[in-house]
Amino acid sequence: MQFYSTNKKSNRVSFKEVTLYGQPNDKGLYFPKQISRFSNDFLNNFRRLSKAETAFEMIKDYVGDEIPRERLFKICEETVGFEFPLVKVTDRISALELFHGETLAFKDVGARFMSRCLGYFAQDIKQKIVVVVATSGDTGGAVANGFYNIEGVDVVILYPSGKVSRVQELQLTTLGKNITALEIDGNFDDCQTLAKQALADNSIKEKVFLTSANSINAARWLPQQFYYAFALQAWNEEFPPIISVPSGNFGNICAGLMAKTSGLPLGKFIAACNANDVVTRYLSGESYDIKPAIATLSNAMDVGNPSNFVRILEIFKHNFANLQENILSLSVSDETTAETIREVFANQDYLLDPHGAVAYFALGKLLQTPEKGIFLATAHPIKFDSVEEILGIKTNVPKSIESLFDKEKVSIKIDADYEKVKEIILR
Ligand SMILES: *Cc1c(COP(=O)(O)O)cnc(C)c1O
Repeated sequence: MQFYSTNKKSNRVSFKEVTLYGQPNDKGLYFPKQISRFSNDFLNNFRRLSKAETAFEMIKDYVGDEIPRERLFKICEETVGFEFPLVKVTDRISALELFHGETLAFKDVGARFMSRCLGYFAQDIKQKIVVVVATSGDTGGAVANGFYNIEGVDVVILYPSGKVSRVQELQLTTLGKNITALEIDGNFDDCQTLAKQALADNSIKEKVFLTSANSINAARWLPQQFYYAFALQAWNEEFPPIISVPSGNFGNICAGLMAKTSGLPLGKFIAACNANDVVTRYLSGESYDIKPAIATLSNAMDVGNPSNFVRILEIFKHNFANLQENILSLSVSDETTAETIREVFANQDYLLDPHGAVAYFALGKLLQTPEKGIFLATAHPIKFDSVEEILGIKTNVPKSIESLFDKEKVSIKIDADYEKVKEIILR
């Protein structure tokens, strides 16, 4: 399928170019020329399909014939090769746990899908492909793991020294092979500035094919639709679920809205936000005024200017009433987030991470009887050191990452100095 730029509709490219280049030069985002309509056959039968079959049916129109069917099916199988359990937390609220992949967060799904598509398209690129990513914690691990051992692709991750959690750092720095972790003496903004500088540097482009793998790449964004179907496969209630999504850059919720527009029987969506509330205020009728990001407990959602919101506007054809009809929103403070983690642990014996806690609280607040709903548990609580501090207990380390603690951290520690970054990219 063709994709257009949200800034210039006549600027059209294929799925291959979308995957390779990520963002159009005009600084818009790529959006599919048409939103898929799932067939009646699919909608009547998807509850009986396997996860891989479901994923394949949901993505195939967007990829078209740019990846052969068998290869695309294999990519889908590898993308969804872990569990997505729907867990009842209260009578009316269930958690869709998206943290059973390698790096214990939902970003594994998009990163795995994109890495394998890029790996396929790499065959046609003569130069070595280098993916550069700046991370404040979650993205880097998912991208590093997604691209680990993908032939023809090297990955350079820039992360701020001392500013990611213990588990996040181990996930970034213990892989080796085609993954290089650059530990920057600075903050996340420094990392991002260095990555952008590299991506804009023509003297690099002569030597390697440099690209990014950030969340606006449609090959990372679109596969996030899959787990909304998995939720429905486990949903046995009479009415469609209300869906609460902890939102930062708004990619995840936007993918859910795509799946709904394509025909999945989902109820209203809740954009659950932390103190970074530009969208919450906008949906309540205020103007869309972006602010610098505020640091919160749910730090993967600390985004002042959510990049994917323009895609949501595209889905609803820039019609405000339509938007308000389909999306509710609530901003949740750190105090309430911590209180929710304590309360749900004490009363329901369920351990929330700060992002899930924001979504859980917003759902509880906005559900109306007799509605029932699902919130997305986007990361495992072990990834955030704050959870143990809030609860005052030691939590169990999941089996899948126990071995991380025996591995040796390998990073290249440097100042926020572009020339050094460049040298490492060109190594
Ligand atoms: C990235 C992330 C989010 C926010 O997702 P968006 O698609 O940026 O809205 C929420 N929770 C966790 C744990 C994340 O890593």
